[in-house]
Amino acid sequence: MAQLSRRAFAQLIGTAAAFYVAPRASAAPALPRNVRLSANENPYGPSAAALQAMRDAFPQARLYPDDAVDDLIAQIAALHGVPERQVLLGDGSSEILKLSGMAFTDAKRPLVVADPTFEALAIAARMQGADVKTVPLDASYAHDVAKMLDASRGAGLVYICNPNNPTATITPDKSLRAFLAAVPAETTVLVDEAYHHYATSSDYSTVVDLVAKQPNLIVSRTFSKIYGLAGLRCGYCVAQEGMIRKLNAQQAWDTVNIMALVAARASLGDKQHVIDHRKRNSDTKSWLRDNVQRLGFRMLPSEANFAMIDIARDVKPVITSMRGNGVAVGRLFSAMPHHLRVTIGTPDEMQRFVDELAEVR
Ligand code: PLP
Repeated sequence: MAQLSRRAFAQLIGTAAAFYVAPRASAAPALPRNVRLSANENPYGPSAAALQAMRDAFPQARLYPDDAVDDLIAQIAALHGVPERQVLLGDGSSEILKLSGMAFTDAKRPLVVADPTFEALAIAARMQGADVKTVPLDASYAHDVAKMLDASRGAGLVYICNPNNPTATITPDKSLRAFLAAVPAETTVLVDEAYHHYATSSDYSTVVDLVAKQPNLIVSRTFSKIYGLAGLRCGYCVAQEGMIRKLNAQQAWDTVNIMALVAARASLGDKQHVIDHRKRNSDTKSWLRDNVQRLGFRMLPSEANFAMIDIARDVKPVITSMRGNGVAVGRLFSAMPHHLRVTIGTPDEMQRFVDELAEVR
């Protein structure tokens, strides 16, 4: 099977992954010259506790990371109130997505996904020789659970991204739970909660609690977003023990390294980090919304650290031109060719983006 790297993924879906963010010159202009608002990373980075944990762990680099794996699993299990055997770590949550594709899709077991959604699992399933059935989001940009339920008969795996990338919208808890209760027992469902910490809608909820009674459910999370550890690669999933065994059977040993493990552990211990970073994101997002409206464009409601803006014209040349001007924004999602996805960066970065958006108008 061909190797799939994040860079190859970015090329496959039509963006150049490499985007150099130049350090500020000493006589720095008021606003940053190059900004990266394309990958939904946390612009403020890891918590101080995570950085310190990594510094402290340098001498441990000589050891295999088994003990640190156990420590992090124990902490995640306690966080979710599940036994440790119901947690699997991954080299980023992308690894969990890929393992799920490997375990539950093939030429006879299709994957069902929304359109648009995060593409990584569909790519993994196609590499397994599986068909990918796409179901358009509904009018409120939620997963159309009724249509997904129809499509899920005979499917190996259903992917629900909540909040959804690229729309930053949620699928209401009530409809998601109704879907999970009705989905055939032989079909696995992966609910991807990568952006869980940013969601504030009262209609949103995690579904981790359903794992206890639902053997066909996998819920994935990542340390790449609110915890600011995207470069370290650490994610995990919660599922019943039998499910974890099937995923783990596809996995190499020790795919999460010692730095990622200790940083993830310290991050979970730093509750204030989540509170602060959620607030920064939400304040900057409100500012962005006001400015997008002032320019006459519409921003979809966002429950994540990025937003989708209807620019009322073909977005592809706009993405290219912004990138040429030093502002990297999200890739084209062909189901929404007039929408531009932008990560919520720092206030300075968003000012740069708004200046570019004004040019579009
Ligand atoms: N899931 C979603 C919805 C994402 O948007 C991303 C990355 O952007 C991932 C999973 C993968 O994240 P990671 O592999 O860094 O955990």
